[in-house]
Amino acid sequence: MGERAGKPSASDGLKNRLCPGAHQLCLTVPRIGGNKVSQAGDRIHDGLERNDFSGLKGEELAMAIRCREQLNMLLGLVFSDENELKVYKEERMWYRNDRFSGKPDVVFVNNNTALIADYKTGRIPVKDAATNDQLQWLAVLAQHTYKVNTIIVSIIQPHCGEPSFHRFTPEQMIKVRRRVLRVLRNMEKPNATLRPGEKQCKYCRAKPICPALKASMTALMTTQPEKLTPIKAGQILDQAQAVKELIKAVEERAEAMLTEQPDAIPGWTMSPGSVRKGLPATAAVFKRLVDAGWPIENIMDAATFSLSKLRQEAKKDGCEISGLLEDLIVENRTKNKLKKTGG
Ligand code: SF4
Repeated sequence: MGERAGKPSASDGLKNRLCPGAHQLCLTVPRIGGNKVSQAGDRIHDGLERNDFSGLKGEELAMAIRCREQLNMLLGLVFSDENELKVYKEERMWYRNDRFSGKPDVVFVNNNTALIADYKTGRIPVKDAATNDQLQWLAVLAQHTYKVNTIIVSIIQPHCGEPSFHRFTPEQMIKVRRRVLRVLRNMEKPNATLRPGEKQCKYCRAKPICPALKASMTALMTTQPEKLTPIKAGQILDQAQAVKELIKAVEERAEAMLTEQPDAIPGWTMSPGSVRKGLPATAAVFKRLVDAGWPIENIMDAATFSLSKLRQEAKKDGCEISGLLEDLIVENRTKNKLKKTGG
């Protein structure tokens, strides 16, 4: 059953709020090991926990260093005297009567204030610190565990820029605790509602056995798109996002089976990815062509400039490039996309 002892955990805070029945259903499905990306994330977290980066290299090492730099910046902003801090790394906290638990990456405590820091090593931006469900669960746990009034929660996700952080005052903490306990009560009801949706189903391991997801699939299969009303279209779109997650899970499973054994699934194979050739060493290419006698105009006709890279270069010299090139910048907009705006 693991260290969570079958009880709800802060890391599932969002899923538990959106699909109250998910926790009970997930208990019936064994956990499986993470993929390559999550394993890299685990190594970075491990290095940060031990403050030892000797096992990291390349992008993983760079990520760990950026996480530590951003954490130090936050500490400087929040606490005036860092020598007085108590530090709790990867320590699981439990709420009253072991009702739920959570394990933050690190908590710093000084007098009446706690700073919770959560490292995210992926590229997909997570919800900001002020509205992040996982951090709200952790804030409730930290207040209960360390008996502090003020909680500052933070997300350190270097791929997405500067850290996001939010200070919960004692008054705000009352509301946050009520919100979390309301979610728990909904989860603890017999036959708690299963509510499929993109966000909650994305990482839910109950996808293969979930009756609500299967019902969504049936509803989709019997839908006649040309007869949809706006209200029905909204409902079906929600279900379609959840079903897409199930389809993705099936494809990932099939890919893993075929990678391990190429003839595992009759009629299916892994076709090799397409190869795209490029010339990233611009200066070397330019020199080679000039040396070979190519006229500059011909070289320039085949070259393209990257606006974002030029901006980066300009920034290094403390100047701005958009004004200089304004009349030469061309905008191409991609096709408009469906996007959920609320609900
Ligand atoms: S698959 Fe989706 S609907 Fe089913 S339990 Fe998980 S989150 Fe809930």
